[in-house]
Amino acid sequence: MKLFLRSVLLGITMLFCCMGCGREEMHSEEGASGGQWNPSEGTWQYTDTAMGTVITETLYAGGQKSAQEIGGRVSALLEQLEQESLSWRTETSEVYRINAAAGDGEGCPVSDEMAGLLQECLELSGKSEGAFDITIGALTRVWNIDKWAREGETEGFRPPSPEERESALEKCGSGRVRLEWVTGDGSQARIYLPEGMQLDLGAVGKGVALSRLAQLLEEQQGVDGAVISLGGSILTWGSKPDGSQWKVGIIDPADTSSQVGILSLEGQWCVSTSGDYERYVEFDGVRYHHILDPATGAPGESGVRGVTILSKEGMMGDGLSTACFLLGPQKGMELASAYGAEVLFVMEDGEIMMSEGMEKYFREI
Ligand code: ADP
Ligand code: MG
Repeated sequence: MKLFLRSVLLGITMLFCCMGCGREEMHSEEGASGGQWNPSEGTWQYTDTAMGTVITETLYAGGQKSAQEIGGRVSALLEQLEQESLSWRTETSEVYRINAAAGDGEGCPVSDEMAGLLQECLELSGKSEGAFDITIGALTRVWNIDKWAREGETEGFRPPSPEERESALEKCGSGRVRLEWVTGDGSQARIYLPEGMQLDLGAVGKGVALSRLAQLLEEQQGVDGAVISLGGSILTWGSKPDGSQWKVGIIDPADTSSQVGILSLEGQWCVSTSGDYERYVEFDGVRYHHILDPATGAPGESGVRGVTILSKEGMMGDGLSTACFLLGPQKGMELASAYGAEVLFVMEDGEIMMSEGMEKYFREI
């Protein structure tokens, strides 16, 4: 199986292992769309692919029909987000239009929602001293990250030369983006990218989706609780009928078939993880991962192997996991705390470091 799908599936398996601890044997019915309804527990489990990753949903619902319908709405929302908003590959998306207008003195009109998202990303870039930077599209392209990290196609990979990296880096830099907000006369927000610059929202897309999914679930009748996993990003929402906590396992980067510990959560949370073991490729015995340091143009080396952020809001949690991976524990903890998020680092030597607030939720195993 393709590399990234394998690790994502592994993560999901871990999650369900945790969720299913101590359960009775499952009696399940196959749903029309391939999901599984478990009448004794009132759960609907469904696996799909969206946003270049595997998604799994477990919905605690009053009945199979409503669960199935809501599951369908979850998938539709993810598809819509990708197609209309976030994907740089899809001609119909807002990000595609923004990138296509790079260098245009007139800039590109953007929706209020997109302007808000971009504004937050630009602010995070400043607060992370440029470690997090959505303007690194030219750099992610020379590394061909989409090919091996998203499509799992590692054949023919070679790392870019220092010259190629350097020339890509010249096209990056959040400080060179101008975002004009809606003015008093009601005109639309506009973004101005310099020639050659390309946005890549890969570091926040799944987090944006988690927050939108929480909103969607809030609007539904007939669902009491849900866990939705988009690759390494997980939303817990509502509650289980038996009142027990959500259990989310944190993968051990040194052995991705096991976990370093478990988070016990109640209600709505977003759990975002960035790690060097999630998506990577090997060339001449060297391993390259997909989180790039804008200071060097190469995969980040901060001594961190995995970072998990626990936050109420998805987009910032996702952005922070990427930023903290690059910044390392000291600066990363300060940054997470500035956003009111909890953070846990798994270091190269296996050491676990976490914010004080995280200790309440995390149990080592
Ligand atoms: P994942 O998408 O596997 O959950 P992340 O959330 O950490 O992992 O996002 C990594 C993705 O973000 C990369 O595939 C790339 O598209 C983009 N990216 C890589 N480096 C950076 C960076 N320094 N700042 C912002 N985005 C980045
Ligand atoms: Mg991220």
